[in-house]
Amino acid sequence: MLLTGTGRLAPAGVSPWALQVRDGRIAWVGAASDAPDDDQRVELGSALVTPGLVDSHTHPVFAGDRSDEAAARLEGAPYTDGGILRTVAATRAADGATLEALVEGRLRAALAAGTTTVECKSGYGLSLDEELRHLRIIRRVAERMPLRVVATFLGAHAVPAGASLDEYAAHVAEDMIPAVAAEGLAEFVDVFSDSGFFDLPATERIAHAAKEAGLGLRLHAEQLARTGATELGARLRAASVDHLEQLDAGGVGVLAASDTVATLLSAPAIVLRDRLPPARALLDAGATVALASDANAGTYSGFGSMPLVIGLGATLLDMSIGEALTAATAGGAAALRRVDLGTLRVGARADLVAWDAEHEGAFALRLGAVRPLRTWISGEEIGL
Ligand SMILES: [Zn+2]
Repeated sequence: MLLTGTGRLAPAGVSPWALQVRDGRIAWVGAASDAPDDDQRVELGSALVTPGLVDSHTHPVFAGDRSDEAAARLEGAPYTDGGILRTVAATRAADGATLEALVEGRLRAALAAGTTTVECKSGYGLSLDEELRHLRIIRRVAERMPLRVVATFLGAHAVPAGASLDEYAAHVAEDMIPAVAAEGLAEFVDVFSDSGFFDLPATERIAHAAKEAGLGLRLHAEQLARTGATELGARLRAASVDHLEQLDAGGVGVLAASDTVATLLSAPAIVLRDRLPPARALLDAGATVALASDANAGTYSGFGSMPLVIGLGATLLDMSIGEALTAATAGGAAALRRVDLGTLRVGARADLVAWDAEHEGAFALRLGAVRPLRTWISGEEIGL
């Protein structure tokens, strides 16, 4: 199949352009005048075409509604672990069919908005049986949907009522992670490593269990306080440390010198009226930056919001539109340790989106209102 267009192919930059897909991968990309012969041609006119978006941080498995809590927070109520535990109660009470339908609806919204790869965390179960149930739901939904799903076990999201931090961290490390790995239910382990949640010793204990089980590591870090979770993540070679609202210059330097990706989540920072993460400093220092939605139950619930996330990167985080688009494609792929995604390089997966826009500047100009016209995953067109 040969895709051709007279508009912008971002970030390749050449126009008129052509891109050949073979066996689900990009086989050739360049100027239309040099394009190889191909029987199957798809003409995309002046539409902006980009790699499919990679949302490398979401929490889609939950039931219940916490809009009232968001409203109360905006009137001064603090953000505590009580909210997560409220979602845990509602989610435990939801039957499998209900939860599956909720997850599928959220992932359909993401796909319809141009996300072709999505990371999905468990973490509203907080018991062995519940966390396994949630990860199995992620797997079942992933099997019947075209978008790529990367599953992450976030049993260390909060300490359940009645348990101590040490007891629960030991349970996550010694019982839950081996069970998750034995069933092949997740590629990564995540820890909410922050003030009032999991401290650095508990985080490290869980991280070692992840490594022993052959699972990658990612951390929620420096959202509520500057704890040193960034340094711990870099030392343990975490794929990504996420949030970073409270990161300082020292932490920026640590990430720039590491291969740990800095994943920035502007939407919950805005909803929480928090500081914004230091995107400009991270980029200037040479860190790899990803932008992701953090769509979740309590601090931002916008599944299908990656076009908005790109626009917020460019307008609020002091990134260029090209940097924001790269962070939402190749940056997200790097955060998931997938070099074959989020790029137009020959050999990469042919995950592509043609947008109802002519220039990537539309992601800023239309803040959240840019939509896909057509989407391909591994070269197969997806019905939207
Ligand atoms: Zn999160």
